[in-house]
Amino acid sequence: MTSTPVRLQRPASLTPEFLQGLVARVQGTAAVPWNLTEVYTGDVLVELPQSTPTDIERAFSEARAAQKTWAATPLKQRLEVFERAHTLLIDNAHVVADLIQAESGKNRRMALEETCDPPMVMSHYIKRAPRLLTPKRRGGPVPLVSSSTEVRVPKGVVGIIAPWNFPFATGLSDAIPALIAGNAVVVKPDNKTALSPLYGIALLEQAGLPKGLFQVVCGEGPDIGPTLIDNANYVMFTGSTGTGRVIGERAGRNLIGCCLELGGKNPMIVLEDADMDETVQGALFGVFGNTGQICMHIERIYLPESRYDEFRDKFVAAAEGLTMGASYDFGPELGSLVSPDHRERVAAHVADAVAKGATVLTGGNKRDDIGPAFFEPTVLEGVTTDMLAGSTETFGPVVGLHKYATVREAIQLANDTDYGLNASVWGKDMKAAHQVALQIESGNVNINDALATAYASKGTPSGGVKQSGVGSRHGDNGLTKYTDVQNVGALKKQVMGVRPGQDYDEYAKSMLSGLKMMRKLGIR
Ligand code: NAD
Repeated sequence: MTSTPVRLQRPASLTPEFLQGLVARVQGTAAVPWNLTEVYTGDVLVELPQSTPTDIERAFSEARAAQKTWAATPLKQRLEVFERAHTLLIDNAHVVADLIQAESGKNRRMALEETCDPPMVMSHYIKRAPRLLTPKRRGGPVPLVSSSTEVRVPKGVVGIIAPWNFPFATGLSDAIPALIAGNAVVVKPDNKTALSPLYGIALLEQAGLPKGLFQVVCGEGPDIGPTLIDNANYVMFTGSTGTGRVIGERAGRNLIGCCLELGGKNPMIVLEDADMDETVQGALFGVFGNTGQICMHIERIYLPESRYDEFRDKFVAAAEGLTMGASYDFGPELGSLVSPDHRERVAAHVADAVAKGATVLTGGNKRDDIGPAFFEPTVLEGVTTDMLAGSTETFGPVVGLHKYATVREAIQLANDTDYGLNASVWGKDMKAAHQVALQIESGNVNINDALATAYASKGTPSGGVKQSGVGSRHGDNGLTKYTDVQNVGALKKQVMGVRPGQDYDEYAKSMLSGLKMMRKLGIR
């Protein structure tokens, strides 16, 4: 592993005035603000206001007022806002990337790729929303005289709780279908990474989103989570499995819906016939992309015995060739972890594995010489399920390599986890790879790719199974989940039930034979 020399020049866009302007949007009057730092240096960038319960209630009440008018605005007009926002977000992608890098410490490539997610989601739903939101008239129980119409009604105000690993994407992309469907949104970003979603919201307003419709509250999750959930009509949460359980319990008590997108311990299975050079390149991104802080990133790799050594040698050499650095240009292939605290967690997973018998093939060290939260890309051998790194999500640049004797064993090992978020299968025989994919207990499976293909396919729902989540984002459900269904049943003439003076036996006979007739004629 090579590290780039520190040549940190903060981007010109990140002036104190610009950052102050962004945080002014937060509904926050708590006495003590949060010091939001630049991860590469630990320097304070700006004081982030913190929200009290009263602030959160105000955010909801302003959002609720704005939502009434927004929901009454014709869909075509609502979509025009997102057409303009699409252009604005792309035109300002580099400023967004500056903010994402400063607050999360990720490298430039990942920051810029992250800026693409909200425009992709907008493109998809601009096209798809009219079909999903237009009322659908269907037949009623009695042909010709009755009908039923499915009307999609916005939930009201959606609460979104977002993590720090993709702050811009998770802060905005889940809000886009909620807003298109006619809802207002109150988002709670992670304190560490509130700047990029705040800027995204400013751009949405520049595109014509009504003021007040998209509110921001900030604070530590356990402090502000309860008030936020208690005021919301629906909660969209992305974060760890432990927190997801807390959110789900509270939403359940309030009888509101929620979508929980949680953690993973994602496996990659390499089949005998895989192209090894492509597989190694794919694994490099799958394991070390975003410094291992992608919910869908790979933490376990299963290799056939016959190809284990070949993969290990090439993969370790490639990991050692990666450049890591603190820089706002495209130089470093790897950035920082999000914080010194998170680095402690990652280092503890490696130390625990080593103490229990695992071998470090490369990496394993903190790199204070580059910045306060840097950690080397790390490859382990001999990881077992009694180790933290073998059973729980590490969420860092750490992977364990494993051998398998049969494909069946590989599938069993891949499924030997409480999680089920993402999996990856590599092989030239696409049919065989598909067969393996279908046997993995995972909400997403990527063939000959680590993670991006499934996630970037916005037309297909993406979510976790087992302990990795409830519900999904993207696809039709990614928008309709933010609506209630109103079923409007209508009769032109009252024909159901016994007519005055009609004999009950005669009525029953005609009803039952009518049912048979409708079945024969294909009328449901
Ligand atoms: P986290 O659960 O600690 O925090 C996520 C968000 O929840 C933060 O905004 C936090 O402030 C808030 N929060 C924490 N406790 C809360 C509470 N009691 N009530 C309300 N809100 C609370 O997760 P994290 O460490 O910030 O993020 C990393 C995790 O997110 C990883 O497990 C990763 O796999 C997961 N993740 C999942 C997806 C997905 O789509 N499945 C995407 C990104 C990240």
